[in-house]
Amino acid sequence: MKVGIPKGLLYCKYHPFLVTFFGELGAEVIVSEDTNKNIFDAGIKYCVDDACLPVKIFHGHVNFLKDKCDLVVIPRIMQLWKNEYICPKFCGLPEMVLNNLNGLPPAITDPIYATSWKNLYSWAQKSGNLLGKNNRQIKVAFNKAIEAQKNHKTGIDDEGYEIKIALTGHPYNIYDKFLNMNLVKKINNLGMGIRTAEFTQEDILAREADNLYKRPFWTFVRENYGFALNSAKEKKVDGIIYVSSFNCGTDSVIIELIKNGLPDFPFLILKIDEHTGEAGINTRIEAFRDMLERRLFNESHISTLG
Ligand code: SF4
Repeated sequence: MKVGIPKGLLYCKYHPFLVTFFGELGAEVIVSEDTNKNIFDAGIKYCVDDACLPVKIFHGHVNFLKDKCDLVVIPRIMQLWKNEYICPKFCGLPEMVLNNLNGLPPAITDPIYATSWKNLYSWAQKSGNLLGKNNRQIKVAFNKAIEAQKNHKTGIDDEGYEIKIALTGHPYNIYDKFLNMNLVKKINNLGMGIRTAEFTQEDILAREADNLYKRPFWTFVRENYGFALNSAKEKKVDGIIYVSSFNCGTDSVIIELIKNGLPDFPFLILKIDEHTGEAGINTRIEAFRDMLERRLFNESHISTLG
């Protein structure tokens, strides 16, 4: 059986688990290509207008796979941490895709509660059963998938730059080069190093979020807020760039919380949708770099005088 896995949304984080699990069950795993113009255009064409860009692009990835596999995985990721959710669009992702695209093969759409191995296993068991596998085969594949996932590290922590920025936002906005117009490279080319949230421990992220009047309900709110606040307070970075999608409800909350928590810290918000021009992004990052340079120069000048 050919199992299709779309290279969109949280694939960038969890592909070792998914690819290993279905591969170990004996399926031929077909992964869509990196996001490119065809995938992007198909996503814009088939998805509803008011969805965020990452969800539109996910549609393009499923469309790429639809004639190439017997079963497509549309991960309905509900929870990664207890008492938190990802976002409403993740909860309804399969319904959106199944209604917007015609001619799809059968899909795996069961909710994924990854708050414990036990909870995640119940998704694995249902998916394995769909492939006609028994419990022993599913357990072996599951354990190998967990190992593969544990060995997978993501994140950026550049060394050797005079200016360092915290690059925040949802992982698919940071790591999909086509979606963000090669943002990581652009930032590095302008002489700025990058640090991403993966290099801050979970307990630190949680501690910062605990200072809010109410614990965030959405995982990305806790992570991005905690990362931004901690990076600025501990002077690990000189500024923060937040890459955000138009129409993202959780982004609008995170951005306001960060602005509120760090009123005087350099903070650039890059909002991206399918109409965003690359020249505009370039200009804004360059202006941000110039501002950070001036700020650093003034600080060192003042400390020399002092
Ligand atoms: S969190 Fe925001 S960017 Fe991500 S899927 Fe939800 S609405 Fe889209």
